Amino acid sequence: MLLIGGGHAHVAVLADWIRRGLPHGARAVLLTPQPILRYSGMVPGWIAGQHARDDGLVDLATLAQRARVELVLDRCAGIDPDARRVTTASGDVIAFDVASIDTGGEGRAAALLGDDPRLIDVRPIGGFVDRLAALPALTRVVVAGGGAGGVELAFALNNQAGNRAGAPAEVVLVAGEDGLLPGFATAVKRRVARALERQGIAVHHANALIVGGAIMAGNESLEPAEAIIAALGSAAPAWARASGLAVDAAGFIEVDARQQSTSHPHIFAAGDVAARTDRSLAHSGVHAVFAGPVLAANLRSALAGEAPHKTYHPRWNNLYLMNTGDGGAIASYGPLAAEGRWVLRLKHWIDKRWIAKYAVLAGVA
Ligand SMILES: Cc1cc2nc3c(=O)[nH]c(=O)nc-3n(C[C@H](O)[C@H](O)[C@H](O)COP(=O)(O)OP(=O)(O)OC[C@H]3O[C@@H](n4cnc5c(N)ncnc54)[C@H](O)[C@@H]3O)c2cc1C
Repeated sequence: MLLIGGGHAHVAVLADWIRRGLPHGARAVLLTPQPILRYSGMVPGWIAGQHARDDGLVDLATLAQRARVELVLDRCAGIDPDARRVTTASGDVIAFDVASIDTGGEGRAAALLGDDPRLIDVRPIGGFVDRLAALPALTRVVVAGGGAGGVELAFALNNQAGNRAGAPAEVVLVAGEDGLLPGFATAVKRRVARALERQGIAVHHANALIVGGAIMAGNESLEPAEAIIAALGSAAPAWARASGLAVDAAGFIEVDARQQSTSHPHIFAAGDVAARTDRSLAHSGVHAVFAGPVLAANLRSALAGEAPHKTYHPRWNNLYLMNTGDGGAIASYGPLAAEGRWVLRLKHWIDKRWIAKYAVLAGVA
């Protein structure tokens, strides 16, 4: 059994194996580049000085050890689903009978904006935190991406003075032609727009692009900028498209409601790397988290030689809590919106509870 990627869904699989043992004496390997998973939901809070840098970490190495899973710190560079083999970035080959993929998506900054030494992609999130932490205090920063990630980062950077020395940064948000928070209710968009205005964050409703070394919003130059932070959504890894697994038009691995590959039943996938064929789902951590227990049950069945039968039925509405960096947050639930300090307290409670659950399982809390 091979787990490829230590993402949010695989954390639930490891938890299941710690609680109930590895299914049917299986031998399992977790292939992932880092011994920790950084929880992206707490990164804006770290920038705004509400969390310590290492507050939002899941200890994959200890979870794997307690689940009796061999940890291989490397990355998948290719998968041959018919030969049942993975080739890693360092050239090793790992054979498997059943495999599950939860590697997340990849950054799209350079592909969408162009190259620039100031460009920092939020994916992978661990690299993003390392690069941001290494920068001196910023005075002018451009955030590209009008989705929830970009909005939260703009708020966080605007409030970064508390934990990183220097004057507050001037933050510009380039939301793109689709505007702020596509897919969110009007009531949520209104509250977010008002909060951005209140905090003095300029919003551009044009696409960002780097032209001749300058960061532009449409035809308007946003220079000078010390950093360009890109939160532009996920791209599918190239190895997924090259694998022969069924993928959607964007290259994400097609799965059904059991998180099972539609082309290769011995392969499962969850989180941002997967695309459900029965309904379209946003690439969002909540789906990786909620799919986790379903995936764990179905991997257990597959290893027992039984047909996987659990299905993940995403709710039509999910609760999103956007940290505004100033001590408050904005909640979105379907058509409903709410705002206040209590929303941030709720966000911190939910985030810390999720992290604490895995710290307890790893025996470090
Ligand atoms: C700033 C920000 C804030 C966000 N806040 C929220 C939020 O509040 N709520 C929410 O629902 N979503 C949020 N998101 C989105 C969320 O981060 C992603 O949807 C979520 O992380 C996807 O989980 P995943 O399990 O698919 O992958 P990931 O969490 O990306 O985990 C992938 C894992 O696979 C490993 N890996 C990567 N490549 C390979 C490879 N080739 N081989 C092996 N292993 C590999 C990685 O090291 C990592 O351990 C936010 C995103 C950003 C950028």
